[in-house]
Amino acid sequence: MKNVESINELWQKAVEFHGHACPGLAYGVRAGALALEKLAYGRAADEELIAIVETDSCSIDGIQVVTGCTLGKGNLIFKDHGKSAFTFALRNNGKAVRIVMDAGNACRPDDYLREKVMTGRASPEEKQLFQEMKEKRIRHILEAPEDEVCTVQWVDVKLPEKAQIFKSIPCELCGEFFMEPRGRIKDGKIVCLSCFREYTRGW
Ligand SMILES: [Zn+2]
Ligand SMILES: [Zn+2]
Repeated sequence: MKNVESINELWQKAVEFHGHACPGLAYGVRAGALALEKLAYGRAADEELIAIVETDSCSIDGIQVVTGCTLGKGNLIFKDHGKSAFTFALRNNGKAVRIVMDAGNACRPDDYLREKVMTGRASPEEKQLFQEMKEKRIRHILEAPEDEVCTVQWVDVKLPEKAQIFKSIPCELCGEFFMEPRGRIKDGKIVCLSCFREYTRGW
C-alpha cells in the first residue's frame, strides 16, 4: 500500500481537475478514499483496480482523481442507472466493495434557495447563505463518520475483461480511422458508426 494522502490533499487535486468545488465532487472523493481504505490499496497505476460507476455526475471526476480508475485506461465502467453508487474491485484477489452515497444528505440548501441562485434571482445575502451551506455540505461529505454519508457493502462482481487494443481501420465513407470492432457494413462498404447512423436514421 502506498502513502495515503489526506482527504484534504485529495480534495484539492480533485477541485483542480474538475474545475469547481461542488458536493457531487465531494461524494466521489469520499467514495474513492473509502474504497482505497477498505480494499487496503493505493491509487491504481494500471488496470488492477476497477471502478463500476452507476452515474455520470460530477462525482466521477473525484473517483478518477482519487482512485486512478479512469475512462481512458478502461478501468472505469459506466452504467447509466442515475445512482450515486460505486463498486470498486481488485483483480488480484477478487475483493469488491460497493459504496452508496446518501444523496439525501443533511444541510442541503432548500430547493427554493437553489432555484433562486441558479436563475440569478438571489439577493447577495441569499447567495452568501447558499455558498455557506454548500461549503458546509462539502465538509460534511468529506469528514463526517462513514455511516452518516454512505453505506458500504462487500459484494461479488463478475469482472469485465481487461481493455484490449484493437486495430484501427479507415471508414470507407468519411475516411476517419476507428476501432475495428465498431465497424458496420453499409451497401457493402465498411463504415464507422457515425456514418452508419447518419445514413440510416439521420443522427
Ligand atoms: Zn461539479
Ligand atoms: Zn465514417
